[in-house]
Amino acid sequence: MNKVIQFSKKNKLLTVVVFSYIVLFIFMPNKAMLSLQNSLYYVKEMLMIMPVILLLTALITAWIPKKTIEKNLGKNSGLKGAAFSFLLGSFSAGPIYAAFPVCKALLSKGASISNIVILLSTWAVVKVPMLLTEAKFLGPKFMITRWILTTISIFVMGYITSKLVKQKDLPSYDNKEISTTNSLTISSTYCIGCGLCEKIAPNYFKIKNKKAVVLNQDINQKDIETVNKAVEKCPAKMIKSI
Ligand code: SF4
Repeated sequence: MNKVIQFSKKNKLLTVVVFSYIVLFIFMPNKAMLSLQNSLYYVKEMLMIMPVILLLTALITAWIPKKTIEKNLGKNSGLKGAAFSFLLGSFSAGPIYAAFPVCKALLSKGASISNIVILLSTWAVVKVPMLLTEAKFLGPKFMITRWILTTISIFVMGYITSKLVKQKDLPSYDNKEISTTNSLTISSTYCIGCGLCEKIAPNYFKIKNKKAVVLNQDINQKDIETVNKAVEKCPAKMIKSI
C-alpha cells in the first residue's frame, strides 16, 4: 500500500488520469471505452513515431558538431538561421510532440530560442503537405492569406520569446566546462535514471531510487575530463556545474 501511495505522489498526473478513468467506467462505461480507445490509438502512434525521433535526436547529439549548430541556428545566425529554422519546420514530418526532443537536442547544441520557436511553430502549423490539403478544402486565397499572417506571427513570437525566456531557464541549458572549483547539481525532475553518469564517473555519480545523485563534490584535477564526459553525455542534459 505504501508503495502505491509513494508511486501516486511521484506521478500525480498519471494518478489523476487513472482515477478519472475509474470514475468514468463506473458512471459512463460507454464514454470510458471510447476514451480508452482514443488513448490507445495515440499511444500506438507515439510508439511508432518516437523510436525514429529519438534516433534522430541521438544522431544530432552525437554527430553534428556544436559549432555547426551554433553557426546555422545560434543566436548570431541572423536571418539565415531564421530562414533555415522555418524551412526545417515546413518540410518536417510527424506530429508536433515529435519536435520537442529534436528541439531540446538542438538547444543543447547551441541553437537560439527564437530559432527554436520558429522551428516548432512552423512544424505545428506551416507544413508544406498540409498547405496543399488546406488549399484543396478551403481554397488557395484562404491558404495564402493564413500562411502569410501565420508566418509573420511566428517570427514575432520567436523574437518576443527570446526576450522573455533565456537559455538558463531551459532544462537543456548547456554547462560551462567543469573545473575543480565547480559544484555539481542534478535535477531529479528531469533525470531519466539511465545510469550513464554513474557508468562514466562512478566516483562522482550514483543511482539512488532510479535517479542520479552527486556522490562527491571535490573534483580531482585528474578526473575533470571524466566528469566533463559524464556531463556531456547525459541524455537529459541535467548535470550542471555551478
Ligand atoms: S546520465 Fe543524466 S539522465 Fe542519466 S542518470 Fe545520469 S543524470 Fe540522470
